[in-house]
Amino acid sequence: MIYKRSSALFKEAQKVIPGGVNSPVRAFKAVGGDPIFVKEAKGAYLYDEDGNRLIDYINSWGPMILGHAYPPVVDAVVEKAKKGTSFGMPTEIETKIAELAVSMVPNIDKIRFVNSGTEACMSAVRLARGFTKKDKIIKFAGCYHGHSDSFLIQAGSGAVTFGSPNSPGVTAGTAKDTLLARYNDLENVEEIINSNKDEIACIIIEPVAGNMGCIPPVKGFLEGLRTLCDAHNILLIFDEVMTGFRLAKGGVQELLGVDADIVTFGKVIGGGLPVGAFAAREEIMNHLAPLGPVYQAGTLSGNPLAMAAGLAMLTELNEKSEVFDSLAKKTEYLHEGIAKVLIEKNITHTINRLGSMISIHFSEKPVVDFESAAAGNNDTFKKFFHGMLDQGIYIAPSAFETWFITDALSYEDLDETINAARITAESL
Ligand code: PLP
Repeated sequence: MIYKRSSALFKEAQKVIPGGVNSPVRAFKAVGGDPIFVKEAKGAYLYDEDGNRLIDYINSWGPMILGHAYPPVVDAVVEKAKKGTSFGMPTEIETKIAELAVSMVPNIDKIRFVNSGTEACMSAVRLARGFTKKDKIIKFAGCYHGHSDSFLIQAGSGAVTFGSPNSPGVTAGTAKDTLLARYNDLENVEEIINSNKDEIACIIIEPVAGNMGCIPPVKGFLEGLRTLCDAHNILLIFDEVMTGFRLAKGGVQELLGVDADIVTFGKVIGGGLPVGAFAAREEIMNHLAPLGPVYQAGTLSGNPLAMAAGLAMLTELNEKSEVFDSLAKKTEYLHEGIAKVLIEKNITHTINRLGSMISIHFSEKPVVDFESAAAGNNDTFKKFFHGMLDQGIYIAPSAFETWFITDALSYEDLDETINAARITAESL
């Protein structure tokens, strides 16, 4: 495939946009080469500026669960836009989507809409701190909760559990309140809690991780976190920005039967428009301004276009809940097909999957946390990525990202993908 125009557009973009992109992963740094510039998309396909058609396994990093330019969502946005695009005043549609979300997700009475997953997670942590009157938080190495300061933290040196900033601009003062734990390691979490007695406001976790590839929780892990949180007056925040309205109508809480105190959303909830949200039981949510003392606000929060897209998307998922089964079956088919061709070619790999999230790791050992994800062979991943891309298959441009399956994929698309994996595997 030829990507001449994309490369030319990338050159132009780099003159006026840092790195030529408005979000770093788009620059293909992890896999090399120039990013592809998209012209339009429909269903399971992206059409780029060179006229190539790509089968899309990223789907805007999750939101397009029913496919690109999904008619009910597009129609809802177009109709709304004709009536004004922002008012900074309450609108009925905000209540409508809130009622629907609250009816779909377990354990939440109230929801507040924001403009991104980052905002949702940042606000959820502030709310947890305000509610518990404690400062420290526990997050897991390899989990991503957006780019707000408290989350851009890496493990500190040696035995120290305090984090240190992993981006210039994040202060040591902020980092000292974020404690880093190992995903799927309950003992490690318990140790951290015990050495920070009565100081921890919340544990924030991707209940199925998608930012170190797809890593499902091992049996008992989330349940164990719930027990620890109850025992120590700590709030459990499920960051369901990826998993919410994707793995089940009610997200991971419903799928795995573990209750969270605060849940954050993004991606699917906005149907492809910039939306995030956080939600909890009434007692917690009533701490938010204007009812309570914890401040949080947004000029464009609850924006009518975003709410129209989100409401159309959630309505579809609510009414057609068989879609979650359909997605899981398609993902399983892809998993089995790709595993078969990699085994045929003797390529060491591990495939992780849950529902419609899947990732391939060129690694011998099970991938259960950040360390084991990082042990994968990145050179093989790069070759796999470019081999697939050359055949018109767009997978995550990093070994540390999950793929997001869309229901718009047909079994013919999946077969085409498996065949591309067979051809790619020959040159790995
Ligand atoms: N939380 C998770 C689990 C995510 O995957 C992401 C983004 O990918 C975020 C939060 C941040 O969301 P946004 O990019 O909308 O700010």
